[in-house]
Amino acid sequence: MELSLNAAGENPQSEEHVKVLIIGSGPAGLSAALYAARAELAPIVLTGMTFGGQASITHIIENYPGFPEGLEGPKLGELFKEQAERFGAKIVYDTATEVDFSERPYIVKTYGSVYTADTIIITTGATPRHLNIPGEEAFTGKGVSYCGTCDGFFFKDKEVVVVGGGDSAMEEGGFLTRFANKVTVVHRRDELRASPILETRAKNNPKIDFIWNTVLKTIDGDDAVKQVVLENVETGTESTFETDGVFIFIGHTPNTELFVDKLEMDDAGYLKVNNMMETSMPGIYAAGEVADPHFRQVITSAGMGAAAAIQATRFLEAME
Ligand code: NAP
Repeated sequence: MELSLNAAGENPQSEEHVKVLIIGSGPAGLSAALYAARAELAPIVLTGMTFGGQASITHIIENYPGFPEGLEGPKLGELFKEQAERFGAKIVYDTATEVDFSERPYIVKTYGSVYTADTIIITTGATPRHLNIPGEEAFTGKGVSYCGTCDGFFFKDKEVVVVGGGDSAMEEGGFLTRFANKVTVVHRRDELRASPILETRAKNNPKIDFIWNTVLKTIDGDDAVKQVVLENVETGTESTFETDGVFIFIGHTPNTELFVDKLEMDDAGYLKVNNMMETSMPGIYAAGEVADPHFRQVITSAGMGAAAAIQATRFLEAME
């Protein structure tokens, strides 16, 4: 990638060289920033569009150790940031738009600047897929959720609908039965995609019911979810189903568009990393949900971020 020059042959954007550039500001990115900053590498974090990542849209986080009362998602992001900045990390509210990993130092272009970096830690996260039906957006946080582990507790002794037929839907549906009286899985086909062990477990769970060949048409309520409208995809018949909550687990999309043909990915588009958080390019690491289709927790992402920064530090030491 050329550093774009204007007509006068000058680069219209500011240009900066960093030892560690972190793309993404969720728990993985900010933990990587803390560790890289404490190694005196003065990392820069490009926040992306949503500072704090998915954690920042979680109402209350009650499973991050050290906060026995729980704390609000945005607050946790602020605390991560404050701690990283205390040791010299710089948080830049900008988004990476283009990367060139063909030679080192690597080049990352943003809306406002061009960075050259000795090492890069990618923590761009993943986005839960949405159904894109009426009511879904309006009731997000008021009964519609994409995370059973985060929000299940709020549905104690209530009834919820789970949408999806994959491993996430079965696993999270099972988790939700710890709180909810009844979990109704609504799946668009008449067989599950989930692995046999999770399917068997779900089918043997007396609190889980299934509605097959059915999709959600709308989500309705007042100040919280009250009902969904279902459509049987074989007969076209519509019906109303009362529920207190709708948990949607129809897959995640890793935020890796920027890295297509530049870094190795699995079939679902997650960045491939080894257990040292190394991607397919030397000095480029990935951490958190962009490289993790399995755990998707604040603590696991933070751990991966810390590990990536430790590896980046070792890489830079070896270079010197
Ligand atoms: P997934 O395997 O892609 O399953 C998504 C489910 O949502 C499918 O059943 C799909 O239906 C349904 N779906 C997709 N779009 C839909 C729509 N617009 N309307 C209604 N339903 C829709 O996603 P996942 O369950 O999140 O799993 C992702 C990956 O993580 C998988 O590789 C999985 O094995 C892995 N994972 C593993 C574990 C574990 O090992 N414990 C736990 C969670 C996830 P169809 O079946 O009809 O396509």
